[in-house]
Amino acid sequence: MAKENQTKKVCIIGAGAAGCACAWLLSQHSDKYQVELWEKGHVAGGVASSHKIDQNGLD
Ligand SMILES: Cc1cc2nc3c(=O)[nH]c(=O)nc-3n(C[C@H](O)[C@H](O)[C@H](O)COP(=O)(O)OP(=O)(O)OC[C@H]3O[C@@H](n4cnc5c(N)ncnc54)[C@H](O)[C@@H]3O)c2cc1C
Repeated sequence: MAKENQTKKVCIIGAGAAGCACAWLLSQHSDKYQVELWEKGHVAGGVASSHKIDQNGLD
């Protein structure tokens, strides 16, 4: 039996802290879960992500 048939497919929406933690935890059990993590933004991290700023461009 193919591995795909033995595992549950899990799609996590949002790569913030909660989504990343959930995806990491489930991925530790790859015999049980196939995990996809979808993020609408360009980077992971959500409100906790870091951004470079041009300090000279600030008011
Ligand atoms: C300045 C600051 C300091 C903080 N300091 C602390 C601290 O010291 N200790 C602490 O415990 N917490 C702290 N927090 C809070 C902590 O960062 C947040 O509670 C936590 O990051 C929230 O994570 P989350 O995954 O729940 O949500 P979010 O970070 O909001 O992630 C949600 C993600 O889902 C994505 N998303 C939303 N809708 C969709 C969609 N339809 N399709 C795909 N992707 C989608 C978003 O783009 C986002 O990336 C701080 C927050 C801030 C802003």
